[in-house]
Amino acid sequence: MRSALVNGRILTDGAALSATGMAVGQGAANIISGRTLLLSGGRIEALVDPGDPRCSGVARVDLEGGLLLPGFIDVQVNGGGGVLFNDDPTPEAIHAVGAAHRCLGTTGFLPTLISEDFATIGRAIAAVQASLDAGMPGVLGIHIEGPFLNWARRGVHDSKHLRVLDSSQVSLLARLRRGRTVLTLAPEMTTPEIIAGLTAAGILVSAGHSDASFAQTTAAIAHGVRGFTHLFNAMARLEPREPGIVGAALDDQNTWCGIIVDGHHVDPVVLKLALRCKRHDRFMLVTDAMPAVGSADPSFVLQGRTIQVVDGICRDENGTLAGTALDMAAAVRNAVSLLGLDIVEAARMASEYPAEFLGLGHELGRIAPGYRANLVLLDDEFQVQRTWVEGAASL
Ligand SMILES: [Zn+2]
Repeated sequence: MRSALVNGRILTDGAALSATGMAVGQGAANIISGRTLLLSGGRIEALVDPGDPRCSGVARVDLEGGLLLPGFIDVQVNGGGGVLFNDDPTPEAIHAVGAAHRCLGTTGFLPTLISEDFATIGRAIAAVQASLDAGMPGVLGIHIEGPFLNWARRGVHDSKHLRVLDSSQVSLLARLRRGRTVLTLAPEMTTPEIIAGLTAAGILVSAGHSDASFAQTTAAIAHGVRGFTHLFNAMARLEPREPGIVGAALDDQNTWCGIIVDGHHVDPVVLKLALRCKRHDRFMLVTDAMPAVGSADPSFVLQGRTIQVVDGICRDENGTLAGTALDMAAAVRNAVSLLGLDIVEAARMASEYPAEFLGLGHELGRIAPGYRANLVLLDDEFQVQRTWVEGAASL
């Protein structure tokens, strides 16, 4: 069934539209008005003039001048709606987390498991597999963050789970048959050859929680590392005579960097400097969200420790940052207000660029014909008004 979204300001590759509203390549991203977006079969059909004959007799949705963006894609979601994936690695928990974030603009996400034992990792992968098999809205795969992390950079990860990665674990980590698997590891906790093996098995390897040197990191990149997990947080500093993992991440022009833009995890000046080092399309906003997102409860339990959320900051009893209370719409607003980005670029960092990181840029992250109809509508203050996943509206 076809529907028509009318009276919106739409982020699209406007320059690339033909007279019939079909895309003819990718032009400059821009916000356009006076066009109607046709959805059909869960996909974007075309951007057309309001008088186009395909608009007549179809269900119309008045966007009332709101800003229509590609739905947000978050590659690091530990929890939401009072639910922690680590606590409850089941399809029901994934559904609850996804629903909480969908109200906040996220239409695609990776449930993220922080360091656990192998049995729990296996259960988490099985839960994501079942969710994908059931066609659960928004689930794009899994992010396994640890346990192959540097003890000195563990953050809130439980040190009893941390270990080196050898080749015997590759088959477990590559078990997800559909969707994407992101694995965060510290390069110094394995070998470049195993990173190459993970990559060959289809895993998207992201470096993080690491004290890797510049040389170790560049070797890991050469063997397949595709990204960096929450750049700057839980990794060695850039030093005058040792650029380290941060220096390698910023020097390399092809890898993606996840950034937490909540005003607390990284000083906005540091993030602005990072943005000058590297192509903007290699940055992606992540939330690293905890159960507090989309929940009224100001505390939660993480692997036996009580985490308190005070002034929007999640900390354990030692004051260590424990993920965030950030949602993706807030991250987009922060990217505008704290980093000085325009809304177009901020939105792309929350949709198009993570889609490219995941290898899904051909069907997600843009408002273009043939793409999945995953959308978010914002008002003038960039607050979420409505979302669509595969053409189905919520809110
Ligand atoms: Zn982390």
